[in-house]
Amino acid sequence: MAFSLYNTLGRKTEVFQPLTDGKAGFYGCGPTVYNYAHIGNLRAYVTHDLLTRTLRRLGYEVTHVMNITDVGHLSGDDDSGDDKMVKSAAERGKSVLEVADFYTRAFFEDTGKLGIIRPDIVCKATDHIEDMIALVRRIEAKGYTYSAGGNLYFDISRFPSYGELAGLRLDESRTQARTEADENKRNPQDFVLWFTRSKFENQALVWDSPWGRGYPGWHIECSAMSIKYLGEQFDIHAGGIDHIPIHHTNEIAQSEAATGKRPWVRYWIHNEFLLTGRDKISKSAGTALTLKALTDRGYDPLDYRYFLLGGHYRSQLQFSWEALDGARNARKSLRDRLRTLREKAGGKAADTPAGKAAEYAGAFLRAMEDDISSPRALAELWGLLKDSAADPADALAAVLDMDRVLGLNLKADIIERNEEQTDPALVREIEQLIAERGAAKKSRDFAKADAIRGSLKERGIILEDSPAGTVWRRE
Ligand code: AMP
Ligand code: ZN
Repeated sequence: MAFSLYNTLGRKTEVFQPLTDGKAGFYGCGPTVYNYAHIGNLRAYVTHDLLTRTLRRLGYEVTHVMNITDVGHLSGDDDSGDDKMVKSAAERGKSVLEVADFYTRAFFEDTGKLGIIRPDIVCKATDHIEDMIALVRRIEAKGYTYSAGGNLYFDISRFPSYGELAGLRLDESRTQARTEADENKRNPQDFVLWFTRSKFENQALVWDSPWGRGYPGWHIECSAMSIKYLGEQFDIHAGGIDHIPIHHTNEIAQSEAATGKRPWVRYWIHNEFLLTGRDKISKSAGTALTLKALTDRGYDPLDYRYFLLGGHYRSQLQFSWEALDGARNARKSLRDRLRTLREKAGGKAADTPAGKAAEYAGAFLRAMEDDISSPRALAELWGLLKDSAADPADALAAVLDMDRVLGLNLKADIIERNEEQTDPALVREIEQLIAERGAAKKSRDFAKADAIRGSLKERGIILEDSPAGTVWRRE
């Protein structure tokens, strides 16, 4: 079976055909670092991680790019409301950069704990202002902009396919949903490329530009950085479904206007929301549950990852403590079964799975190939664990293989009893370093790969490369 993804652009499932054979360029919209990520946001990043892991398992060389938004994101995606970063800094009595640094660090701590492999390229908006200005100049040179009230706007009436992604029609004005009207906009869906007249008195971060001293609109950062790192056309772009009607719609308009190339991105992937009760979790509405709120109650972050795997990324998922308990129990029983299996196998996995176990591994991969169907994939994992006809050493090898995609850190439960003696935080740190070493090897940075192996050896951790991936053991 070929890898298929549901493409929001066109609203159907399509076989993945990358621009370059064997490679996949993937941009996932990253966090706005004005607060802790809530567990809904983290669902988006687990989805990106599953996509990346699946592509890698299928043999694609993936370049995964993620931005960090530290400027320009207003509370309304349509340029309305407060600047999230400025407001957060004022409330905390800190500078915008201090707030951004603090929450960026917190974000990667959370994602590390969730087994999310760090993207290959993480890029901060404030480090790429020149790229954004250069892109806006191209858009302007092609006649897609106008200045009004001190700001530079994108004129959507010049871009006939505007709204294609969302299935929006231009006459469906967004005014009803808007919290405040911007009198300068010729069309309500026009959007700001560059602000010079800030509505915030103490706009902390401003830069010189051809349009005056100011700061970029939110959408332009994703176009500028993805084009910089992945090229003027690339394979996959992802985010939550809330990004379809405005953020991604505007990204497409400005990118295709600048380059004249269509489609800018071939596959648009959107995850559905995580809900608590009837509401979607949202940081600004104050209903945010963080990962720390879960760990404070004694859950392991991987319990939450397991819970997320149990829902398909395109279905709404209802969070509840009972459901999280269910995930914790299932993950515990999964690890118990693995320990039994390990004993039956004499502590050693086969090099590659064969027989029955290989059949489950194949079915598992077909589920993931089918638009990342993680619930079906999990069912295959359980099918294997409950099937007494599967040879234990083969079954262990198959589970190792599956976990390259699931990211549940099961290796520690399988190989050499590491887990009982090792702090889970250390296990995850080692996993993270193994992933970084893999990425370094792939980009032929062998010095870095060796340095990672060397630094772990100094701490008594030995890395061994095997057909099922790199495994580790104590010296
Ligand atoms: P933000 O930091 O607000 O830009 O959001 C980060 C990511 O989380 C985006 O891809 C959003 O679409 C996504 N997101 C926001 N709320 C939820 C939610 N409740 N469930 C799933 N994804 C969400
Ligand atoms: Zn974005």
